[in-house]
Amino acid sequence: MSQTHKGIFTLSRRRFFKAGGTAAAALCANTAVSTTTEAARKPLDPREVQEAAATRRSPDARTVHSVCLACNARCGVRGVVRKGRLVNISGNPYHPYNMQFDPIAYDTPLEQSLAVTSPVCGKALDTPQHIYSPYRLRVPLKRSGPRGSGQFEPIAWPDLIREIAEGGTLFSHLGEDRHVPGIRELISDDPIDPQDPDLGPKRNGLVFLTGRLQSGRKEFIDRFVKKSVGSKNRIGHTDICGLGFRMGNFALSDGKAVELKADPKNADYILVFGANIYEALQPGINTYGAMVASRRADGELAFSIVDPRATRASVHARDWLAVKPGQDGALAMAMIRRMIETGRINRGYLGAPNPIAVKKRGYGALCNASHLVICDGRHPDDGAFLRMHHLNPNLDEAAGNDRVIFARDGKTPVASLSAAEAALDREAAVKDVTGKTLRVKTAYRLLKEAAFAHSMADYAAICGVDRSLIERVADEFASHGTRAAVTQYHGAGNYVNGTYAAYAIAALNALVGSVNMKGGYLTGGGGCGKPTGGLYDLKSFPGGVKARGVAISREKAIYEKSAEYRRKRAQGGSGYPSRRPWFAFTRGGLCVEALSGIDEQYPYAAKVLFTYLFNPVYSIPGGYRFASTLADPAKVPLHVSIDIAVNESNLYADYIVPDLSFAEGHYGWLTPHAPGLCFTGIRSPMVKPLTDATPDGRPICTETLLIDLATRLQLPGFGHAAIPDAGGGRHDLSRAEDFYLRAFANIADGAKITPAGEGEIATVEAEYPISAHRGILPDEQWRRVCRMLARGGVFKPYDALFEGDIFIKGLPEVHLYNESLARSRNTLTGRRFSGTPAYVVPADAGGNDFSELENVYPFTVVTYKTRLHTQSRSLWSVHAMEIQDENRVEMNSADCRQLGLVTGDRVRLASVSNPAGITGRVQATKLVRPGCVAVSFHFGHSGFGAGPLTVKNGADVFLGGAAVIGKDGRLVVEPGFAKGLNPNDVALLDERLGRTPMVDLVGGIPDFSSTRVRIEKMISKVA
Ligand code: SF4
Repeated sequence: MSQTHKGIFTLSRRRFFKAGGTAAAALCANTAVSTTTEAARKPLDPREVQEAAATRRSPDARTVHSVCLACNARCGVRGVVRKGRLVNISGNPYHPYNMQFDPIAYDTPLEQSLAVTSPVCGKALDTPQHIYSPYRLRVPLKRSGPRGSGQFEPIAWPDLIREIAEGGTLFSHLGEDRHVPGIRELISDDPIDPQDPDLGPKRNGLVFLTGRLQSGRKEFIDRFVKKSVGSKNRIGHTDICGLGFRMGNFALSDGKAVELKADPKNADYILVFGANIYEALQPGINTYGAMVASRRADGELAFSIVDPRATRASVHARDWLAVKPGQDGALAMAMIRRMIETGRINRGYLGAPNPIAVKKRGYGALCNASHLVICDGRHPDDGAFLRMHHLNPNLDEAAGNDRVIFARDGKTPVASLSAAEAALDREAAVKDVTGKTLRVKTAYRLLKEAAFAHSMADYAAICGVDRSLIERVADEFASHGTRAAVTQYHGAGNYVNGTYAAYAIAALNALVGSVNMKGGYLTGGGGCGKPTGGLYDLKSFPGGVKARGVAISREKAIYEKSAEYRRKRAQGGSGYPSRRPWFAFTRGGLCVEALSGIDEQYPYAAKVLFTYLFNPVYSIPGGYRFASTLADPAKVPLHVSIDIAVNESNLYADYIVPDLSFAEGHYGWLTPHAPGLCFTGIRSPMVKPLTDATPDGRPICTETLLIDLATRLQLPGFGHAAIPDAGGGRHDLSRAEDFYLRAFANIADGAKITPAGEGEIATVEAEYPISAHRGILPDEQWRRVCRMLARGGVFKPYDALFEGDIFIKGLPEVHLYNESLARSRNTLTGRRFSGTPAYVVPADAGGNDFSELENVYPFTVVTYKTRLHTQSRSLWSVHAMEIQDENRVEMNSADCRQLGLVTGDRVRLASVSNPAGITGRVQATKLVRPGCVAVSFHFGHSGFGAGPLTVKNGADVFLGGAAVIGKDGRLVVEPGFAKGLNPNDVALLDERLGRTPMVDLVGGIPDFSSTRVRIEKMISKVA
């Protein structure tokens, strides 16, 4: 065991058992926090530290099928619980993720299923270590010093609810005389800004930012924020999670789907852009990576990797294209050019102008390649598709709306529905309704023009990949018919102007016709049953409010409808620029722009901020900028954090409410990210809550907090008779299970699940903690829910979702040209966006690329996740930390030689935004592109026990009790948690936008690939 871990856990154990306080004693009896014996000073033997996976029922253990949340991939898990403690996690063989798309039959009896083992990854295996971390919080905290001072004290539950609900001079005892707003002040339909009522009511002053959130809790929190309080501002973190590739798919599908990937089961060739398929991804490494590796070994599949850093999968890849960071778009556009130039496109598919023609030719989704676009700046509909009503205003609405094409050899434009084959590469002048000519081009022609805007040599120079290699990979991609597709992920487009890079990458699939095709580019197939409707209406309720106005992140909001725009126009200007960007065309979940909006009080000021499992100071590139925002009561008058720990961000909170881990109570219904699958995984608790309880015995957690706040404020949707049923009855919502068990009943009903037999019901009732609440459901519903719980969800076989080679749950249309995108604007310049994929230079909000920085800051930082560590939270994962307890500054060996560096040297990385920089140890490697430094993202913490805190009565607060906190209230800091470096701490800030983190101006994608740094040697390698 590493020295640091030996230190903390040896100390923890000694102090824990010496402590003798009531809290510590109770914890000892009930939870057995994560400690090791003295004998564990010797190296860990995996056979000693973890039980084998359960393969048969054991009289002294419970076995629970549930869904993992150690990362967001949502694999099934089988938890083994002994004496109330989770001791092992393995896979769930009913779940297709754990069985590489080939699970055991759904009607396999539960008892028999236990004989089948299936894998989970190391992150899941560390779940017990994580949930029993001695640094977990048990009771609510209130700040007892200035914001950010790290001083807290416990607060009683009723006081917590009253203070958050009502506000007041809550910190006068600390010398802060200001009035702190409570939620009650926000329950008003008066405008939040009387000068601009379109921004919505005062209710929008509540901003609820969510970190890791999945279906189940998402619906519960939305019920409170959007429908009870009525705020627009429940904003997720999709932007930092991976908005880049999703924006490409958002454009390709026109917002219908964002999770598209190559089919790992039947693809012949996969081009992997910026995805660490053997170590991360959704679906996770047990699924996607394992399938790719296994099919590659069997000679069924080939793949190539595009990444500045050679991922582990590169060892099996046909090619490694070491692209320059942020230039994946140039590479994809070069491939498009090559495919067009050499005729390696699927003309039969692209020329089919309507769904009937597409089906007749045996393809899965209409592509709008042949549809005509108005390309005439004088026309009011410039950039829109030419529709029949433009040619003939007398047509009825349906006929008038039909898009227009040229038939293959036709000279006059016709309705797209009227032809079997369309001209693909065409531009023309046609007469509009007034008799004037207007110029039109096919969507394909527009794409071709964009691709031909640069030569192959230029593209090769821009993206840093040899032209011959680009051409070879493009030819290979186009040589597998519809069984070639891309899998793109965070690296592909998570940077400024990443929308167009990801759109170009997604468009490659359209050019070969592989969208919706077996072995091609597929969405997930959705879930089974409908959680929020059917037997119980969990979506709407009497008195529910409809949130309106503009989100503080300005996502999905049209700037041109704002008072700011009108005011600027009235003053004689163009209306542009807006003060900060607005994002009409985005998937949304823009937590970075939400925080920037809070910082600038734009378009209005936030009053009450909730952060849920959200650590922006650590997790956002340039998030260090927001420490001052969170510390400022004028910008964040009240901050309530819900979390399992004190982290780098809620250090600035006024209140911290402890939450449950996923193993204890993140109820949920989890649908696939995976291509070609349809399922709903059911997550129910494996163990009882580890947090303290309210005076009436409910566990302290997100749901209990929101229920009690809503009840005190008499908000609709919670408390007495809040849940309507299909028969006209009403049911109370007083605890989490009132909501989730009814959602499970809805799913079972919608998915037509048959009732479980007596044996399975007896097993669930004996082994699943949720069964303590079985009285919420009538018997018949409970029996059906039991069958689902016993299997960890509802799962359909892969083959059920195909008719021949066509995926029946796929996209309705593939947008090679996106009209909505083309009609929206960059609100800082007023310029319209391109409607097709195009190469766009990565640049800041002022349009400056980063070339000026390169003389002083010659290296570009790229980040990645390893297979062992999970975002920011795995520092509590003992086994992962045993294997890797710090990250490195990974540099190409040639760069190291030039700088006189060797592996182990300590260096400083400094950027123009953070000249003081961050430090770490060098790893020389040939697996990183020269000119780049790769830093994995998990390390360099100052929260979670890595930094100082002072907490009154701390032995009652932390799960480890007196083992982790002294009598003086000072936390026992674990120095090992602070090892390594966090690359986000050196990320560039945008000087044009108030030194806030840089974002893509189309979709709001934060930048992970543009930071330039210089590298200074500090200390030579320590032996
Ligand atoms: S990939 Fe690993 S951590 Fe992620 S959900 Fe699957 S088992 Fe859990």
